[in-house]
Amino acid sequence: MTSLTDFISSLKEHAADALALALPISCAGCGMLDRNLCLSCRDSLVATVQYRELFDETSLERLPLWYAMELAEPLSGIVHAFKDQGRTSVAKALSEPLRVAMKAMYSQAREAGVTGEICWVVPPSSRAGFRQRGYSPIVELVKAVGVTPTKLLRITRTRADQSTLGRMERFHNMRGVYRARDGIKGKNVILVDDVMTTGATMLECARALRAGGAVVLGAAVLAYTPKNFQDTRREIA
Ligand SMILES: [Zn+2]
Repeated sequence: MTSLTDFISSLKEHAADALALALPISCAGCGMLDRNLCLSCRDSLVATVQYRELFDETSLERLPLWYAMELAEPLSGIVHAFKDQGRTSVAKALSEPLRVAMKAMYSQAREAGVTGEICWVVPPSSRAGFRQRGYSPIVELVKAVGVTPTKLLRITRTRADQSTLGRMERFHNMRGVYRARDGIKGKNVILVDDVMTTGATMLECARALRAGGAVVLGAAVLAYTPKNFQDTRREIA
């Protein structure tokens, strides 16, 4: 039999649901009322893929990379709503430009003669981040593209929040954060991420995977932040 406490807590839940339904929704990109993502913001999510090569100054290894868009409004607002405000409803729209970058990297690998299975790998979410959000944004994005990421990396230690750090500090902060799981020798991998700032996370993923014997073909990224993205990029002439 339902106790009075259960009954009251169930009433509270229903009240919270009703409140959530009554709250006005606004566009994740521009804030326009009554739209989850307005037409204009949705139409702005068009990939104009560009190619770069990231360069690891320590190992001297290169990482081919395709990105779909530069991080500017309204994309940055939509990404913020998706990653930090629980707006998972925009995953599908964000996955469209990401898909174009993933396809570009995939085609490049195939054209270079890579055969066999290619694994899609994303930077692992920290436990704290996952607990806080209840989902991993990049896993949700890649799934919205129609691909299930393969878990080939794990986190070895906690790291400082990257957003407070400068470029070189980010590289030092990331170094050795990931380790490849056993049995990945010879696996072909393409890395995927949502936002790239300095490339420190992507390069650390590549380092760990290569140390484990995987063949890292390159990376595909939804958005990169041009103002912070400096000497590690090398444009192909
Ligand atoms: Zn909008």
